[in-house]
Amino acid sequence: MYIQISILFVVFSIQSILFTKSLRLKLSGIIITEYNRIWSEEDIEKLKRTSKSGELLILRGREIISPSGHLLIFGYYDEVKRGLSTQEILDKVHRKGGIVIMAHPFRYGNSVGEDLERLRNRFVCVDAIEVFSGNQNRDENEYGKRVWEALGLVGVGGSDAHSIEMVGRCLTWFQNTIRNEDDLILEIKAGRCRPVIKG
Ligand SMILES: [Zn+2]
Repeated sequence: MYIQISILFVVFSIQSILFTKSLRLKLSGIIITEYNRIWSEEDIEKLKRTSKSGELLILRGREIISPSGHLLIFGYYDEVKRGLSTQEILDKVHRKGGIVIMAHPFRYGNSVGEDLERLRNRFVCVDAIEVFSGNQNRDENEYGKRVWEALGLVGVGGSDAHSIEMVGRCLTWFQNTIRNEDDLILEIKAGRCRPVIKG
């Protein structure tokens, strides 16, 4: 199954976009991750109802800025105070059973060409890295793939969609069916997923 790991909308009529585009792309699910804001369960339920999304799985997460870069957080809903170190953030999330993914680590050429051992040290603390991101260009995504393969990390793909066009370009394939947030966390922790890029 294919799931859109990170999706961020700044457009209106989100319902129709989700419904039509996700169906057309045959996505199994999407995850809405906004900066420093988490959709409530009620909002997600409302979105499902109003979009008539049917079988489309809709989950929520958030993206935050840490000293190590942008992080995607799933399964953790407490406040993350500014000024915390990356390790402190990770500890908090892990204690509550959540996961942390390094978002678009190669964006703007960041880390492209960087020594693999240094990258291993940087990425070892997170549960997965976003190998392919809609927020990275072709070369950056290429490099992400090389690092992912070389270091044997758990990798995902995410659109980081800020527009309709960006939806579904970078995806995550899961070996098993994801029915809910617990499944998502379990499967990523177990590494039973891989990043996918279209085009
Ligand atoms: Zn970001």
